[in-house]
Amino acid sequence: CGIVGYIGNRQASSILLDGLRRLEYRGYDSAGMALNGGGENLRILKRAGRIDNLRQAVTEANPLGTMGISHTRWATHGPATDVNAHPHPDQNGKLVLVHNGVIENYQTLRDQLTAKGHTFLSQTDTEVLSHLVGTYFDESKEPDGTLRLVNAVKAALARVKGTYGIAVMHADLPGVIVGARLGSPLIVGLGDHEHFLASDVSAVVAHTRDVVYLNDYDIVTITKDRYDVQSHQGVPAEVKVSRVEFSADD
Ligand code: GLU
Repeated sequence: CGIVGYIGNRQASSILLDGLRRLEYRGYDSAGMALNGGGENLRILKRAGRIDNLRQAVTEANPLGTMGISHTRWATHGPATDVNAHPHPDQNGKLVLVHNGVIENYQTLRDQLTAKGHTFLSQTDTEVLSHLVGTYFDESKEPDGTLRLVNAVKAALARVKGTYGIAVMHADLPGVIVGARLGSPLIVGLGDHEHFLASDVSAVVAHTRDVVYLNDYDIVTITKDRYDVQSHQGVPAEVKVSRVEFSADD
């Protein structure tokens, strides 16, 4: 339902919580976040129910990290439980993904991955996509980490039928978040040495008014200092920076 991602110099957890709260009006049944604190593992916190439940978990765990992805879920596949909340890790737990939309052929993909030895923790369609991206990432010989992740996302999405807005990060790449969309909105927020990904501008207007509305089939990478939008074919996409005029109490 709602996506917020952040990469920059500030602690991500409160920025993500605040962004999720601003997407609350769209409705949701669970919320979660993953942070990359630069260690070997990502921290994942997720809770069914209100964002306050997640906030409480975050307050207790106090996860550190200047980059992270977060999500409010409106369940389509699997009930609203802690485990089914996003982000979803891949098989080896190094890659995490949040997803808006529906993967229509998830059962086929799930069966294929199960036959290859994958085990799934949740009942969601989303976890299948996470495992699929992780598989392509792990199999890749591409030496450039960012390109490797982008290529893995592309390869996985090429096998998917359905709709998606996604944000992905990997424990071994503590400087980049990848996003993509098809039939589900995603924007990039441009800050000063920080960038945001969100499903709706209202999640970022407290931090920046400069946004790029992504188009279907766009793939974006954001780092602290740069963003790069390309099409599935690898061609640089046409990018237009829009200035959001808001008058509300943002
Ligand atoms: N289909 C996914 C799920 O059920 C994502 C739902 C959403 O858009 O929040 O987990």
